[in-house]
Amino acid sequence: MKKVRELFTALADIVLPPICLICGTYLAKEEKDLWLCARCAACFSINHGLYCPECKRRLPGTETPCHKNARFLLAAPFDFEDPKVRSLILLLKYRGIRKAAIPLAFFLAQYIDRLFTTNDLPAALTVLPVPLHRSKERKRGFNQSALLVKFLGKRIGWTTEYALIKRVKKTASQTKQESPALREKNVKDAFAVIDASKIKGRNIVVVDDVYTSGATMHEVARVLKAAGARIIIALAVAKT
Ligand SMILES: [Zn+2]
Ligand SMILES: [Zn+2]
Repeated sequence: MKKVRELFTALADIVLPPICLICGTYLAKEEKDLWLCARCAACFSINHGLYCPECKRRLPGTETPCHKNARFLLAAPFDFEDPKVRSLILLLKYRGIRKAAIPLAFFLAQYIDRLFTTNDLPAALTVLPVPLHRSKERKRGFNQSALLVKFLGKRIGWTTEYALIKRVKKTASQTKQESPALREKNVKDAFAVIDASKIKGRNIVVVDDVYTSGATMHEVARVLKAAGARIIIALAVAKT
């Protein structure tokens, strides 16, 4: 049934004139690349700067976060409360609309561009998605974070990697875990390194759709650090 729906979506994209993913109006020629009309695209306001992954406080520069035990810096162009952002993420994640990753990656690239020109951040970066468990990826048909990496990589020219780490444990949904301790326990030992040679000594950007408690990202960062990663930046489209 899902395959049929996907086929119809693909056919509709070919046959029907493209419409804005947010408001549904027909797109002009120059708007088609982003799948957003100019009016909706102008309504997205992008955050500045980096955040502490523990308390999500905005960091004045790129110095160590206020919480010294943090293994990484949090980067997020949007807040999840923004209804337009939330709607694109939901289209991508739960409705299987892959092209919703295109405008999101565009905004990620804009945010990154500004972040790296105004801060003293390392230039040589490897970017990778938070991996999904094989069974979950099969069920959804794709990994939404990997799609974001793919479209982002095209725009900013970083090295993209999709198989440096993998999810070895099938975890329950993080949103169903009621306390930070349970969320931490749920993702404990969920990830394993596949290729440490491409992690050791590298500065790494890990992409995810939404950053909530950070338990998943902490676990990814722990594994990457153990494999010798240097600076780690968690790049999420939105933070809660
Ligand atoms: Zn629109
Ligand atoms: Zn903090």
